[in-house]
Amino acid sequence: MGKISKPLLFWYYNSARDLPWRVVKDLHPNPYFVWVSEVMLQQTGVKTVIPYFQRFIQAFPTVDVLAKANQDQVLSLWQGLGYYSRARNLHAGAKQIVAMGEFPQTAIELLKIKGIGPYTSAAIGSISFGETIPVVDGNVKRVFSRLFCLEEKGQALHDRAFELSLAEIESSPGDYNSALMDLGATVCSPRNPQCEICPLKLNCCAFKAGCVLDYPKKIEKKPMPTKYGIVAWVEKDGELLIRKREQGILKGLYELPWDEVEKTDYDKIDSDFVKHTFTHFHLYLKIVRTKKIQEGQFILFESLKDYPFSTLMKKILKKFRL
Ligand code: SF4
Repeated sequence: MGKISKPLLFWYYNSARDLPWRVVKDLHPNPYFVWVSEVMLQQTGVKTVIPYFQRFIQAFPTVDVLAKANQDQVLSLWQGLGYYSRARNLHAGAKQIVAMGEFPQTAIELLKIKGIGPYTSAAIGSISFGETIPVVDGNVKRVFSRLFCLEEKGQALHDRAFELSLAEIESSPGDYNSALMDLGATVCSPRNPQCEICPLKLNCCAFKAGCVLDYPKKIEKKPMPTKYGIVAWVEKDGELLIRKREQGILKGLYELPWDEVEKTDYDKIDSDFVKHTFTHFHLYLKIVRTKKIQEGQFILFESLKDYPFSTLMKKILKKFRL
């Protein structure tokens, strides 16, 4: 063990990506910045995250400012990033940290904060506080799977990668983890790994065996279910009826009133539709213009931009109104 740390860090110090939340060779980058960036990066690519991160930090430069913000403000700055429970948890977590009096400094303590799981706690612990703990994301799993020709999949692969990565940490755990994540994101990519320029090629089992694309082993995916719904478009004197969602993955965001219906009822309606794919299902929505008033509030069309809407609702607004 301990074969990859040196070449990896050498590579990282020469080719690290310049990211606004990162300070290379500094053991104490701002934990709040690391937290926000890691949460944003969980389901979103770096390029998309950078402007969101900059706007978010400009509006909420410290954990105290975020704790005092109102939820609509936080969700507005998250619009378009999706997975809004991340923003709600970040906001709730900020309040928790302020109540605690200081930012927790170890992965174990960080796990007590709402929305911080093993991955984010390890990232903050190692990057901001120098804790010796591996960070294992999809990129790191792929790198280890190839480096050691691992046959495991899913959680078993995660656990094995964690164990192997821990054994490889020699110094600067934060830089080591960032380097692995970068290597997976830029060099050891899923379909087109650039092994010739990889700092770890001499230690890489899959490269030496000429079977890089055989790793990681694939998990067969089940087809995603499809759901159907009807949206009510209620317009009156230049105003549109909207409501705030009180539950589910889009809780806290505004939407046009809609209900899930059976496919047979959906098929009976003759109107235009939008399709949206969430993580675990596809959703088809047909829009029906109606005068039947439902629960909600009427908002002037020009004020709609002041309310946080999901990408799905924005698609509807764009298609039907503008
Ligand atoms: S040599 Fe190729 S497969 Fe191995 S870690 Fe590097 S990029 Fe990935």
